[in-house]
Amino acid sequence: MLAVEGLTCAYGDILAVEDLSFIIGKGELFALIGANGAGKTTTIMTLAGLVASRAGTVRVDGEDITRVPAHRRTDLGLALVPEGRRVFADLTVDENLTVGGARRDARALSDARAGVHALFPVLAERRNQPAGSLSGGEQQMLALGRAMMAGPRLLLVDELSLGLMPRAIDECYAALDRLRADGLAILLVEQSTDRALHAADRVAVLESGRLAWTGTGADAIGDSALVEAYLGLREG
Ligand code: ATP
Repeated sequence: MLAVEGLTCAYGDILAVEDLSFIIGKGELFALIGANGAGKTTTIMTLAGLVASRAGTVRVDGEDITRVPAHRRTDLGLALVPEGRRVFADLTVDENLTVGGARRDARALSDARAGVHALFPVLAERRNQPAGSLSGGEQQMLALGRAMMAGPRLLLVDELSLGLMPRAIDECYAALDRLRADGLAILLVEQSTDRALHAADRVAVLESGRLAWTGTGADAIGDSALVEAYLGLREG
């Protein structure tokens, strides 16, 4: 579904991502992990079209989207759940969902809203509440739901569990599981590596912008040297 090849990104002289290649298949949850500053957010923002790459290609179902602007990538099936959730605090829950599907027709919007309400019933219960009054976990559900309103085929999720209570994290991961079972491809950037490793089909470890390790989630959990070298500091 997604093929990234030789991706290189820089901020002026600072090389943030260097020669990064990976693929994500339909219905696959791919976790990108690594220490602070490893280049995870840069990668996800580049895929969303919000940071320009310096070299490399990004393909979606074979189509080269490397130079396609962010709003067109939404039309092509990429949706971002940004770090920190970034819900529109003064808008209601329902209005936030409408923003996520703003480029779709009324029928598609209504179907998507029903799907989001089925995934997260709490968003239906709180539909007329300002998003800013929701708990952190509910806001993360809203950020996921808002992204789903665009009808994506690939969900880009930056730091799903950061700052959330364990129960909310469980609910968000359970939702990702259901979406993956429906065929959605998911790229997940996570600080909480233990959760990410257990959830992921495949894992890539970034170190100083370069791919340091790649394998299945199960292989990653079983590789104590890997866990110690790259993940030990990020547990819990
Ligand atoms: P974290 O887990 O701390 O968010 P990360 O793995 O997501 O880290 P990035 O945020 O992608 O890493 O940062 C990669 C590198 O690029 C770091 O050296 C960082 O300081 C640098 N960087 C990120 N954003 C900018 C920016 N807007 N301007 C300059 N340098 C940046």
